[in-house]
Amino acid sequence: MEYCARCLYPANAKPTIIFDEQGVCSGCRYHESRQRIDWVEREKLLREILEEHRRRAWEAGNPYDCIIPVSGGKDSHYQTYLLKVVYGMNPLLVTYNHAFNTPLGIRNLNNLVSRFGCDLIRFTASPEAVRKISRYMLKKVGDLTWHYHAGIRTFPFQVAVKYRIPLIVWGEHGFAELTGLVTLEDMVEFTKWTRQEHDMRGFEPEDLINEESGITWREVVPYQYPSDEEIEELGVRGIYLSNFVYWNAKEQADFVIKNYGFAPFSARRERSFLLYGKTDDHANDVHDYLKYLKFGYGRATDDASMEIRHGRMTREEGVEMVKLYDHVRPSTLDTYLKFLGLSEEEFYEWIEPMRDPDIWEKKVDGTWVAKDTVANHIYDPWVGAARVPQVADRTFSEWNRHLYYSDGRFDNQAFTNPWLRIESHNEQRDFIVL
Ligand SMILES: [Zn+2]
Repeated sequence: MEYCARCLYPANAKPTIIFDEQGVCSGCRYHESRQRIDWVEREKLLREILEEHRRRAWEAGNPYDCIIPVSGGKDSHYQTYLLKVVYGMNPLLVTYNHAFNTPLGIRNLNNLVSRFGCDLIRFTASPEAVRKISRYMLKKVGDLTWHYHAGIRTFPFQVAVKYRIPLIVWGEHGFAELTGLVTLEDMVEFTKWTRQEHDMRGFEPEDLINEESGITWREVVPYQYPSDEEIEELGVRGIYLSNFVYWNAKEQADFVIKNYGFAPFSARRERSFLLYGKTDDHANDVHDYLKYLKFGYGRATDDASMEIRHGRMTREEGVEMVKLYDHVRPSTLDTYLKFLGLSEEEFYEWIEPMRDPDIWEKKVDGTWVAKDTVANHIYDPWVGAARVPQVADRTFSEWNRHLYYSDGRFDNQAFTNPWLRIESHNEQRDFIVL
């Protein structure tokens, strides 16, 4: 397997990653391209778009001038901060409740609404519908969280049409950030096609309705995109803030923790050292483990690659993170097997045909072994030349302790989280009891 000479991504990373002649991946090049953008000019463009929509809402007598699709995470907090506090908009927050909430996620969503004084519409899917969809899509494409992606990418558009709010404001373009799917120069906007192709793995809700799945049309209502006529008539557009402002997830997380009460995790997580991302969703570990079972890499690869691109972590330190986390079987797998009515054997059997033969090999005794790992590529010829300058703001430094978990291998201090001021949230649970 070929690995990026700068970060840790393998050549089979999804969505499609491309390596250039220096052996550097398209995600690293996307990150680098931020330096070439005139951000003052970009921010001006953003102000123009927002101004226009504020005027349109005023003329239409609509109290809301934009929609922010939120989960309650760090990005939701930062998006709401920008739109409400910095740009003086009156956003309607819209969320899709996927039923796999962590207590921390529920606490953060409540915090978001109360701290920014915004209105929120929350669609809660029936747990039985979620179970059926989860089970079916796990078997079909190895994804038990299809309904999240479909829900958060679709339900805000239903609200847009119903409440006649034509502007939807997303945070970062996630796929661009990971593997450089698009360029900053393109200034892409949200489309129904990318939603289906990337977020929903090529499936529209009607594709789920059949005898095998037992899913009925009533159970896929939140995933039905408005008609082209409805979208056009209202002139709905979805923009990404990361095209207009210099996006730096770590700085933004730190900012909303310190100023707006967003709470990160405060203890070691099973599949990554990063404490401020994916806080709302306890299926994420299983979702991420599935990525590992299919393609041989997981969230530690994602998170460490981001640190490496920012120069906060060396590639060698990143490799240590991959060795620590990427292969770990999450304990929440038991919860989901029970919820889906599956045995562990069935689970692994279902996933077997999805394992990428470029990375996985089945031994005669039936066990699967990864044929390669980034740990075998520390001394690849291009690595030295591809290195980014290191910054003083180290991932595992004293002042970043509330953002990244260190097990002591990289420092000798006991882990404490000075910024954590969470009220007791352990009793709040939604639908699925662990
Ligand atoms: Zn890379």
